[in-house]
Amino acid sequence: MKTYAYYNGDFCPYSEVRIPLDNRSIYFGDGVYDAMIGRGDKIFLFEEHIERLFKNAERLKIKIKESKEEIENIILLLIKKSRLEEYFVYVQASRCSEERRHAFVDTDKSALLVTVKDFRLPPINKRLKLITVPDIRYTMCDVKTLNLLPSVLASQKAESLLCDEAVFHRGESVTECAHSNISILKNGVLYTHPTDKYILPGITRKHLLSSAKALGIKCIERPFTLRELKASDEVIVSSTSKLCLLAEKIDDTSLSGEENSLGFSLIT
Ligand code: PLP
Repeated sequence: MKTYAYYNGDFCPYSEVRIPLDNRSIYFGDGVYDAMIGRGDKIFLFEEHIERLFKNAERLKIKIKESKEEIENIILLLIKKSRLEEYFVYVQASRCSEERRHAFVDTDKSALLVTVKDFRLPPINKRLKLITVPDIRYTMCDVKTLNLLPSVLASQKAESLLCDEAVFHRGESVTECAHSNISILKNGVLYTHPTDKYILPGITRKHLLSSAKALGIKCIERPFTLRELKASDEVIVSSTSKLCLLAEKIDDTSLSGEENSLGFSLIT
């Protein structure tokens, strides 16, 4: 299916997007992004995603030229042009400058890239197989930047072992996954890593926590260990592109796991 993309003011077929070398995402990964899903003209949790994109851009002093409303209209136009009913949206804001030099000046230009593609959520009863890998990332994991090499390598390792996600740990302490957050349920209490410099404050994670609280489930935001992970009653992996799914296996440990009502309540 032919989809359309937006780059810095122009709409064109996805395969025809040309990114100039003044875009610092090429040399430095100097940019931020966000991803959302939607159906028809409803972009799911658009306000929260776009708010996070602008906040992250501000953290890196990237000035996005388009307003939030303009970005929403760009996405909706792309959906229409690409004739998509259910879709995944990727929005990237990167810094531009004329020459390759590490330091930038505050007046630097920025470029916005928006792509869309056909997308279906995985079935809610899909059970995930996970591997654990050392978290070799830096201490700015709370910013959704383009610097994703440790996540790329971890995801590749998971895929090569026919697994779905890689769980990062710093020493014994579990942080999050390569492209998801992770929470556990033990004796009716939900544990998840606090939102600090070691994890991305996932939007799905936030909704998981509020759904759990609404169900009267106690939530504790503190790091848990690999040992606690493998001994938990349920392991819930959350992200925009999967919402909340349970894990059935971590490395060589099979999880028995009760049926999860949390993910279900979040999705329906
Ligand atoms: N953590 C990381 C490292 C991610 O890349 C993502 C999503 O891409 C998440 C967590 C989940 O965030 P969200 O629920 O906002 O999609």
